[in-house]
Amino acid sequence: MNVTEMKKRVRDLLDDREAVMLAHNYQRPEVQDTADMCGDSLGLSIQAGRTPAKVIVFCGVHFMAETASIVSPDKTVLLPRPDAGCPMADTITAPALRARKKELPGVPVVTYVNSTAQVKAESDICCTSANAVAVVKSIQSDRVLMTPDRNLAQYTQRYVDKEILLWDGCCNIHDRLTAQQVSRARASHPEAEVVAHPECRPEVLDQADVIRSTSGMLDHCAKSGREAFIIATENGILHQLRKQSPDKRFYQASRNMVCPNMKLTRLEDVIEALETMGPVVKVPEDVRVKALAAVERMLAVPRD
Ligand code: SF4
Repeated sequence: MNVTEMKKRVRDLLDDREAVMLAHNYQRPEVQDTADMCGDSLGLSIQAGRTPAKVIVFCGVHFMAETASIVSPDKTVLLPRPDAGCPMADTITAPALRARKKELPGVPVVTYVNSTAQVKAESDICCTSANAVAVVKSIQSDRVLMTPDRNLAQYTQRYVDKEILLWDGCCNIHDRLTAQQVSRARASHPEAEVVAHPECRPEVLDQADVIRSTSGMLDHCAKSGREAFIIATENGILHQLRKQSPDKRFYQASRNMVCPNMKLTRLEDVIEALETMGPVVKVPEDVRVKALAAVERMLAVPRD
């Protein structure tokens, strides 16, 4: 089958299965173009929970399918590539977090949604890259432990008076971007605004004109009067940015910002998942209830 035929096969199967297809902004372009919704992991999961679909096909990585299962326990969640993991989420486990909590009695734990369901279940509250500052400000404590992304934690520390204790994890895709690479991109495109994700290192963020989550980048670039942007996040998002603003110019901060896990899912995998109705991701109920509580506490925090 060629790409057009595969897209049609996916759409037919989605109809047959009463399914909705979600694609993260970092997925392959043809996967994004076939999906019902593109976005960030939490936003997609929440939207999918509100649809009448009985089945969610999550084109992303494992923790994202878990989040969909946490939010929508009555729906069948398919992850077309079960080997699509997240090295950042894997930097922390529930036993390791429990051990750290014993060392820090009374210190609330804020966990980035890029984490496993078990780790969310051990946390007091979740955060996203869009609301981390508001979440930490909302906590009634002078000290918090932020997991697992040390870069997001250091970014948040710039805007809050509390002491933020770090977990030594990171997204190696964002962490590999250097300040020198950003300088070179700026020298090549001096008219462009540098828009960086908070998962980047502090010295990269120091060079950014604007710091935004993926959904924040899409919103900012659509509304901005600027015509050119250097984008410092996983390069898959350039597809959505260019679709959204075809008259504007978007440049990669580095062509190395490609997450291999995010690129595993192909249309062939989506077809197979819908034909076989597997692999299914289902979070055990005891873990789900605790993880959902951490997500719901986050959703109750007013935005800045
Ligand atoms: S881009 Fe980073 S945080 Fe996202 S899945 Fe890949 S390794 Fe994990």
